Amino acid sequence: MTDSPADELVPYQLGMPADCAREIVIPRAIAADNDPQWVPQQPNVWFRPLCLSASQGFWVTLLKVRRAGVLTRHRHPKAVHGWVVKGCWHYLEHDWVAEPGSYVYEPPGETHTLVVDNDDEMITLFKVDGAMIYVDPFGKTTGYDDVFTKIDRCREHFIGCGLGADYVNQFIR
Ligand code: FE
Repeated sequence: MTDSPADELVPYQLGMPADCAREIVIPRAIAADNDPQWVPQQPNVWFRPLCLSASQGFWVTLLKVRRAGVLTRHRHPKAVHGWVVKGCWHYLEHDWVAEPGSYVYEPPGETHTLVVDNDDEMITLFKVDGAMIYVDPFGKTTGYDDVFTKIDRCREHFIGCGLGADYVNQFIR
């Protein structure tokens, strides 16, 4: 049903449901290098939290890498969606290359080894559901991340750079 012309510019007149979480809006999400919202992950690797869903068990982050080579080998029990902003990367297990503007869907069950192709800056937005399970080439688990380890890492970093333990809360839903 379409609005009548008189109603077109009228905002929704009822309240949001009582249990509806607050929206998140992050202007200029690809911030300057010295922005403390880039959380160090490994040497020359950072992530920036956008949405950390403790209630649904997923996280949306920007990943920034400034070094060529293998980043991680990992298994996904649930789906991942990626959008490449800058740079190029690929998986050792596949013959395609993710380039700027590429959308990537990683289905549940995938295990793959992420390689950044050169030292040019790479930035990709990832939505990861469930967990990243880090594995050796034969699938033996070596570690994991989930939304809670991501929150812990952010909190640790934000405390360390003086923004405080509560700074991460704005990204948590
Ligand atoms: Fe992956």
